[in-house]
Amino acid sequence: MIVTWSEPQFVAAHAVMRRIGAHGYEAYIVGGAVRDKLLGRDVKDIDIATSAPPDRVEHLFEKTLPTGIAHGTVSVLFASYWFEVTTFRAEGPYDDARHPRFVRFDTTLAGDLARRDFTVNAMAVDANGNLYDPYGGLVDLREQRLRAVGDPMLRFQEDGLRVARALRFAATLGFTIDPATQAAMLESTTRLAKVAPERRQDEWNKFLVALTVARCDEVADEVIEAWTGWHDLRWSCACAQTVNVNGLHDRLAVLLLPFADRAGEALRALRYSRKDADEVMALLRLAGAWQAGLPPALPLAVGKQLAAYGDGFLARAVDVCWAHHPQRDRQADWQLAHAWLESAPLRTERDLAINGSDLVRAFSLQGPAVGALLTYLFEQVAKRALDNQREELLACARAWIESAPLDAALLRSFLAVAPQHVPITVYPSVPSTNDLVRTRLAEEHASFLAVLTDRQESGRGRQGRLWVSPPGKGLALSVALRLDASDSERLAEWPLFAALAVRTALAEVGVADVAIKWPNDIYLHGKKICGILTELRTASGEARLVIGVGVNVNADAEDFPDDIKARATSLKVAAGRSVSPNRLAARLIDELYGSMQRYLVGMRFRERREEYETHCMTIGQSVRVRQGEALVTGLALGIDDEGTLWVQNEASETLSVRSGEIIES
Ligand code: ATP
Ligand code: MG
Repeated sequence: MIVTWSEPQFVAAHAVMRRIGAHGYEAYIVGGAVRDKLLGRDVKDIDIATSAPPDRVEHLFEKTLPTGIAHGTVSVLFASYWFEVTTFRAEGPYDDARHPRFVRFDTTLAGDLARRDFTVNAMAVDANGNLYDPYGGLVDLREQRLRAVGDPMLRFQEDGLRVARALRFAATLGFTIDPATQAAMLESTTRLAKVAPERRQDEWNKFLVALTVARCDEVADEVIEAWTGWHDLRWSCACAQTVNVNGLHDRLAVLLLPFADRAGEALRALRYSRKDADEVMALLRLAGAWQAGLPPALPLAVGKQLAAYGDGFLARAVDVCWAHHPQRDRQADWQLAHAWLESAPLRTERDLAINGSDLVRAFSLQGPAVGALLTYLFEQVAKRALDNQREELLACARAWIESAPLDAALLRSFLAVAPQHVPITVYPSVPSTNDLVRTRLAEEHASFLAVLTDRQESGRGRQGRLWVSPPGKGLALSVALRLDASDSERLAEWPLFAALAVRTALAEVGVADVAIKWPNDIYLHGKKICGILTELRTASGEARLVIGVGVNVNADAEDFPDDIKARATSLKVAAGRSVSPNRLAARLIDELYGSMQRYLVGMRFRERREEYETHCMTIGQSVRVRQGEALVTGLALGIDDEGTLWVQNEASETLSVRSGEIIES
């Protein structure tokens, strides 16, 4: 039989074949193009089979791509059409249902057609229009029948994907499957399950998109399970719902909706691309929201999806639900969803009157805190608690930052001295930050570490006294430093450096009039506001210094137990307003880190003695100092260059008192 095909794509294909022929090789249009053309269907791409080896094909044409060179396929561009030109091949035995063990180039068309899957796919046409049809493909086309080439059982065992391809062709072409082929297919489902997921996905997509209501339930559940690997899918019910919508992503969403919580896993198992999976998951989330009754304020996640996929996406999500309940009034549902969307004051944080850079500039925020704040502002505007106006948004942002609970990202945005890479960890609650940071320093390589919590369970003061802190309203910060142990004189000055660091930090958050009680307690108007515990352990030339700072931040007077009320106060009580724990923590870390840097370049207490004395409440006061077992009472005369306190006792003797809390071990 001779066929004449005159569409430009076929004219170009004939020219390609003639050029190959002029060099002494055979060339034929094969496979789907022949089948679809004979059926009068649109032909997408034309595959050409040739006796020419791939390297010859590459030399015969100006523009080629080595698409599948190992399997003999070269893409050829000719007259603005791409053709896949594949050298005749006969595949070696299949040993894993995935890939033939080897591909052997064959010299004959007959050999090439014999390895093809179905008779309607195993026809070829040469440059003169001669049709080669060794397996009766034409008759099968006419009778709308899908039949395996050769022994069906053998062919499906060779390549399990052919089971899926048979179903896909039956669905797209509207063909029935020949009984012998059908029987062999059912026996080969386990073979299909072993095919590489990428290949199964490719056929699944084509099948799903082509599915029509008439034929969809002809496929057995087991076959679909082997094809997709989705154990939760009940194809016999799902198929009729699936055809209520169109398009790959929408149909996938309809199928996955009943087990939406495992949809991500299912999509990954079939190796869907990130992009495809994102779109399906977005549809599922939106469909889930619609099913649950849309929330009064547009959630940012939904707004972002609509911005990414367009407003029509909401109607698609509504349809995904409707596909499961086609008795519902679809138009009315659309209108409801549309009205909901229209009533939203904004869609995404991009619609806010300020953006991330504004926040960075206004509050020197960085990192994830910027996103978190934008989300918060979006939500406030979305629920109409706030007008979308610059000044209002900035004021709201300021309030949010100041009132935000302790958070590592927010804290980091306030750092000005300590570098961002310094390990800082916020814990929800910790028995003792000093113990924790010491353990971590022993395990990690860092030379400076900070751990914090606003819920310390058993903080200690000096002499093991309990540090009382109402949960969530205090700050317990411990830093650990790894230092050289050789200069014990200088190490002994650290409690005083710590006191200076804390005093400066408190002044920077607005509580300037605190005083240091030698060596390192911090008082405000005679009440304790902050405790510092410095612990030093030295071993094999290394000093591990741990400085723990406990601050009463936002406790109200009534939060303190009665016995402590008279002796303790908080930053909030002192400043008359809440203090941001993040800002405070960042200042503390900055000051302690800065102290470490200065220590490393040789700082001595004597250089800061004046500063210390200025803020020290002890000098000129009557004091009782514990020194070992003895209790020394007298008048604090002053502090010397080493940080030693000089006390005159009642016998007018002058005693020197070294800072008491250094615990040597
Ligand atoms: P489509 O319209 O989807 O492109 P097609 O029939 O062209 O359908 P392709 O996957 O492009 O399918 O393959 C081209 C030809 O290669 C098929 O017509 C068939 O002859 C052969 N073929 C493809 N896959 C297999 C397979 N798994 N086993 C045997 N032959 C196959
Ligand atoms: Mg094709």
